[in-house]
Amino acid sequence: MTITLAMAGLAEAALGTARMVCLGLLALAAIAAVIVWIGRARVWAGIAIFLFVVVSVLFAPWMGFVPMEISDDPDEHYWAEKYRETANLWALVGCMVGFATFWAWKAPSISTKTTPCGKCGRENAVTTTICPHCMTRDGG
Ligand SMILES: [Zn+2]
Repeated sequence: MTITLAMAGLAEAALGTARMVCLGLLALAAIAAVIVWIGRARVWAGIAIFLFVVVSVLFAPWMGFVPMEISDDPDEHYWAEKYRETANLWALVGCMVGFATFWAWKAPSISTKTTPCGKCGRENAVTTTICPHCMTRDGG
């Protein structure tokens, strides 16, 4: 049985389409967040935030957390369940985007920190113990 066979009408088809678009955009936001984690690319953090805001404004997915009055209609149970799933995914992607943004801007950088040599004053990586410029131990 496919989902389209269970659709009662145009309204439900519209709900299904909206949910697909919503999940698609959330998936793109999640992918952008992963790219931020891998490459610490701030542009992708911006894209992830943008996609997440678009989904939030267009679809209001948090409404899935609001308890609904449900009749015995199995269609309503089906959609209540789908709303809740979408809301959970929205919250998950929101956390991913939040951590990715923090990672891109606030996390301490590993590779770009330098410290001046005590002898010749040239910049070396913080992990360097012997200066590659004057070949002395850092600090003389
Ligand atoms: Zn030096």
